[in-house]
Amino acid sequence: MNLKDLWLAIVGKLLEEFERAQIITWFKNTAVLSFEDGVLNVGLPLPFFLNWHITHFSKITLEAAQKVDPKIKKITYQVDIALGEADSRVIDLLKHFPDKKPRKLPNKNEKRSEEGIISKMFNPKYTLENFITSPENRLAHAACQNVAKYPAENYNPLFIYGGVGLGKTHLLQATGNEIMRNDPSNFIVYTTTEGFVNEVVDAIQARNMNHIRNKYRKVTVLIIDDIQFIANKDRTQEEFFHTFNSLYESGKQIIISSDRPPHELALLNERLVSRFQSGMIVDVQMPDYETRLAILQYKCQEAQVFINQEVLEFIAFNVTSSVRALEGILKQSIAKYELEHTAPTVKSVAKMMKQTQKEVKMIGFVVQDPAPRSAVTIDSLIDSVTEYFTVPKSDIVGDSRTRDCMVPRQVIMYLAKTKLHMSLAKIGQLIGNRNHTTVMHSVKRISDQLKNDRQLLCDINAITKEAGIH
Ligand code: ADP
Ligand code: MG
Repeated sequence: MNLKDLWLAIVGKLLEEFERAQIITWFKNTAVLSFEDGVLNVGLPLPFFLNWHITHFSKITLEAAQKVDPKIKKITYQVDIALGEADSRVIDLLKHFPDKKPRKLPNKNEKRSEEGIISKMFNPKYTLENFITSPENRLAHAACQNVAKYPAENYNPLFIYGGVGLGKTHLLQATGNEIMRNDPSNFIVYTTTEGFVNEVVDAIQARNMNHIRNKYRKVTVLIIDDIQFIANKDRTQEEFFHTFNSLYESGKQIIISSDRPPHELALLNERLVSRFQSGMIVDVQMPDYETRLAILQYKCQEAQVFINQEVLEFIAFNVTSSVRALEGILKQSIAKYELEHTAPTVKSVAKMMKQTQKEVKMIGFVVQDPAPRSAVTIDSLIDSVTEYFTVPKSDIVGDSRTRDCMVPRQVIMYLAKTKLHMSLAKIGQLIGNRNHTTVMHSVKRISDQLKNDRQLLCDINAITKEAGIH
C-alpha cells in the first residue's frame, strides 16, 4: 500500500467512529510522510495542530492505524508547512469522504386534522433526558416527567415560568415529544402565544370564531409557549379562555410557559388567572455553577468537540444570565475553532464575552495555572494587554488620554507593579517616560476599581492567565 492509500484507510477508520466535521477539520492537509520500522511519521500543516493531535488524536489514530496495518507500532508527528491542498502527498478528504446529508424522512407521527392543524413531534433535540437538573429547575423537570407519564391526570394545567433562556421551551417540547413517544395516538399541538393571537385576529376578521373552537376540538395536549404575550389582548384572552375551558373540561392536558407567575400577568380576565392557578405552578431559575459546567460538558460531548476544562470552567463561572447565553458562548467558541483552527483559550473566550455579551454579569474568577511560566517581561506584558484590549502599542507609550488607552495603560502599570514587582520609576520610564507619581496613581486607581468592577477583574484574570503571570 502506498503512503497515501495507507493514510486514506486510516482516516476512513477514524471517520467510522468520529463526527465527520471534526475529522475533516483536524486531518485536512495532513499526510503520511514516511513509514519505516513500524513508525508512521504523520505530517501536519500548521504548528498548533501538533499539540492538538498529540493530546486528542494520537491514541485513537494509532488504534485506527493498527487496524489497517498491524505492523504500525508508533506514530510520530512532524509539522511541514508545505503541506496544503496543492501538495501531492495530501489526499483530498472532501472528495473521498463527501458529506452525506441525511435524507429527510417523513415524520411518521405527523397528523393533520380536517381543520388544518398539525400534530407532530417537536424539535427532537429537546428531550427530558438531556435536560440537566439542578435545585433551581428540578421541580419543573419532575413535573414535566409526571405529565409526560400521566397526561391530564395530576398536574393540569402545568404552568412553568422563569426568565429568558432558562429552558422553558426545552421542557415544553421535550414533554410533548415524550407524550407522543408513549402514545402516538395523541394529538398534540404546540403553539407560541403569538401564533395563537394571530389566529384569533384572523378569525375575528373572518367573523368566524367557531372555527377556532372547532379547530382545537381534536387536540389531546395543548402546549402554549410564552403566554405573557397575551397581556392587553382582550379578545385573544377571551378566546383563549374558551378554548382552555373546553379542553380542560374534556380532560385534555394543557401546558403553559410564561416569563412570570400567573398573578403577575396583568390579565384582564381574572378567571383565566385562577384557572392557571388551579393546576401546578413551577419555576425555573438559573442553574448553579456545577450544573452550568455540567451543561457545557454535556454540550461539548454532544457536539464531539474537546474544549479545555479550564475554559469551560471560566465560561461556567462567568456566564450567569441564562443557559442560552452559556450555550451561545460555547457555540461561538466551537465555530471560531472550526473556522480558524484555534483552540479556545480563557483569553479568547473572555474577549468574546466582552464583545458579544455586554449584559452578562461578570464575577471574579481567579484562574490558577498549575504550570508556572517564569520570565514574564514588561514587553510581553505590554503585548498581552494591548492585544487583549486591541489597542496599538504606540498609543500606550504615547500621550493619548482616551479611555480606550488609559485603562490598558493603567492595567499594565498595575500588573508591572503588583505582579512583576518593578519599581514605580522603572515602570514610568518604560511606559513613555512617565513620572513615578503618575504610575503610583494608576496602580491605586486600578486596585480601587477592582473592588467593585467585576468586568475589570475578569479582564485582569484573563490577561494574567494568558501572560503566564502569577
Ligand atoms: P426559554 O424558553 O426559557 O427562553 P430555552 O428552552 O429556549 O429557554 O433554552 C435555551 C437553550 O438552553 C436551549 O438550547 C436549551 O436546550 C438549553 N437549556 C436550558 N436549560 C437547560 C438545561 N437545564 N439542560 C440542558 N440544556 C438547557
Ligand atoms: Mg422559549
